[in-house]
Amino acid sequence: MVYLNGNFIQKNKAYISVMDRGFLFGDGVYEIFPIYNKYILGLDSHLNRLQDGLDSINIKNPHTKGEWISLINKIISFNKGSDNQAIYLQVSRGCDEDRNHTHGDLKPTVYIQSTGLNSRSKEILLKGGSAISRVDIRWSQCNTKATSLLANIMYAQEAKENDAEEAILCRDGVITEGSNSNVFIVKNNCIYTHPKGPLILPGITREIIIDCANHCGIDLKEVAFDKEALMNADEVWISSSTREVFPITNIDDQQINNGQVGPIWSLIYNQYQALKGIKA
Ligand code: PMP
Repeated sequence: MVYLNGNFIQKNKAYISVMDRGFLFGDGVYEIFPIYNKYILGLDSHLNRLQDGLDSINIKNPHTKGEWISLINKIISFNKGSDNQAIYLQVSRGCDEDRNHTHGDLKPTVYIQSTGLNSRSKEILLKGGSAISRVDIRWSQCNTKATSLLANIMYAQEAKENDAEEAILCRDGVITEGSNSNVFIVKNNCIYTHPKGPLILPGITREIIIDCANHCGIDLKEVAFDKEALMNADEVWISSSTREVFPITNIDDQQINNGQVGPIWSLIYNQYQALKGIKA
């Protein structure tokens, strides 16, 4: 069951007009909410980021926070086959009479769906995973969670074709983020991640990891680091709402920390799992 513009319907019955600017231009924003046994992790942060995204592209938020929460909870209950879910929510600018780059005041299209969220076990994560590195050629408004993801999906596909978990992006010598994740390194017991700003998406998982580090008393600095620091790090992780905190042990066929997942990852992972158990 999905939600489209006021109706809860079967996914194969959900259609939009070809005049929708989401379809024609990728003119919209989206969110992904991780759900653990009906608990929406980072709910308020996700709704705030949705508002920021809509503001940044001048779409009026079609719903109040309360309305969004009610819609999301309905989708969760309609899809309760799996305990853990990833809720995808998209707002596009809506449909115009014809295809024009410019637009008038349109009624946004709202779409919400749920898919199963299968977190990998710690045992599997301890095997680590690989990444490739690529030059970050994306636009410089990466803090907007826009549906126009052409560069990101090309990087993700390249990673997949290289049997890698992620493509880690480097702009002007600085590591920004992954194609669909944020990036962290650990060096001498201190965690580093790129500061918020136009060059990265302000990941909600990134924020949760910062809280986890504070809670565990581990130093964390939001400062940029270069490719050399990445390749020589004690630990490298990527984070996202669906992949949580995932350890990278190989980049461009070169081992990180001799291919071993590090102890700080384990501490943060444990703290993250504890948060998932908290009921709303
Ligand atoms: N950066 C990019 C480019 C992403 O697409 C994502 C996931 N949507 C993230 C970071 C991680 O964000 P979050 O933790 O909110 O899922």
